[in-house]
Amino acid sequence: MSRQCTACRSDDRDTIDAGLLRVGVTVQEVADAHGLSHDSVWRHARNHLPERLALAAEAEEVASADALLDEITTLIHRVKVALDRTEARAVEGAGSEADVQGWTRELRGALTLLAAVSERLPPAQVMVLSSPEWVQVRGVMTAALRPFPEAAKAAAQALKSLG
Ligand SMILES: [Zn+2]
Repeated sequence: MSRQCTACRSDDRDTIDAGLLRVGVTVQEVADAHGLSHDSVWRHARNHLPERLALAAEAEEVASADALLDEITTLIHRVKVALDRTEARAVEGAGSEADVQGWTRELRGALTLLAAVSERLPPAQVMVLSSPEWVQVRGVMTAALRPFPEAAKAAAQALKSLG
């Protein structure tokens, strides 16, 4: 959490975070709804939301483990979409490998969070790791990273740590 961050400082932080975790709602829509800039909400989503989810998992603040897993899966989905777009731009010559690696780090962070939370859950809930959605995420990520061996290696190591 940052004092510099307008989203963190907002009284509507819970609503902002809930909006960011909803599939089909864009960062721009969340920003507009709260009178914030796209960049500040995007920075908040990247830098502060994962940390907050991790703290919630630690404190078991969330109503149920299922709800938390849903949120983390959604976060991974969002990061995956961003990685896809960045990679597509890189292929067109409009993006850089550094950007792709940045998103790969984000994805690794989200996966580490998922792994940390999964450790605290009963085995049935860990089945999310073999769900069709997860398999799709993994497949898309592997394909997206093919042109970037270093990033692919880092992602593979992160996946391996999930078991
Ligand atoms: Zn923030």
